[in-house]
Amino acid sequence: GTSMRYFEARGLTVNYDRVRAIADVNLAFDEGQVASLIGANGAGKSTTLRAITGLVPLAGGEVWFDGARIDQLPAPRRVEIGVAMVPEGRRVFPQMSVRDNLLMGAYARKDRGAIASDLERILVRFPRLKERLRQGAGTLSGGEQEMLVIGRALMSKPRLLLLDEPSLGLAPLVVRDIARLIIEVNRDEGMSIVLVEQNSRMALRVSQYGYVLETGRVALEGPSDNLLNDPKVKELYLGG
Ligand code: ATP
Repeated sequence: GTSMRYFEARGLTVNYDRVRAIADVNLAFDEGQVASLIGANGAGKSTTLRAITGLVPLAGGEVWFDGARIDQLPAPRRVEIGVAMVPEGRRVFPQMSVRDNLLMGAYARKDRGAIASDLERILVRFPRLKERLRQGAGTLSGGEQEMLVIGRALMSKPRLLLLDEPSLGLAPLVVRDIARLIIEVNRDEGMSIVLVEQNSRMALRVSQYGYVLETGRVALEGPSDNLLNDPKVKELYLGG
């Protein structure tokens, strides 16, 4: 028989009005993997994440997660079953403290007792946030705000974490910190992650498997190491 992967998107197609944003996008990976989506501006990376989370309607296709079809579930229900997205743009609650921003990530949880211990555990991984717990989130640096939105998503106890352009606009050394953080969350917690990045080199180094999107379609896919060494990927996405 056919064996179902932990996550499968089959034939994802999304239109904005009459304009086709993505067409027949297929993704598949196993539990505990990081899959990256790379591609130019407008290639459809963010739209693919929105299709997975239910923020845009599908014109076609299916999404399967841990053996269940989820594309007919309303978006909040998908969050409840463990699909969490960190959208592009680091939207922290600027007037609230770092601590309260993190706790907001747990708003839908019912296991009140576990929330405090999860906060402690997450702060061990994010020492820069731990040092700034009482600081207003709006005063954090860009890299710290990115850590905060990732930490906030982790407070929802996701099983699948979707990250949209976490490195956007950050200095190279800070990008390295974010990359290390993603690697650690994947390795230490076995977190399954879909990473959307314009920084193709970073994305392919962090992920085990990669997809190259071009004008709404998967143009190329494969183990990230292979893509890092692919002449076409090198020329078009890794700066030669
Ligand atoms: P970027 O890195 O610039 O965010 P992307 O690869 O994530 O690019 P998408 O944002 O998914 O690409 O956009 C895919 C296509 O859909 C583009 O042509 C874009 O202009 C279009 N698009 C995206 N959002 C909307 C929207 N809300 N309404 C209409 N068209 C949209």
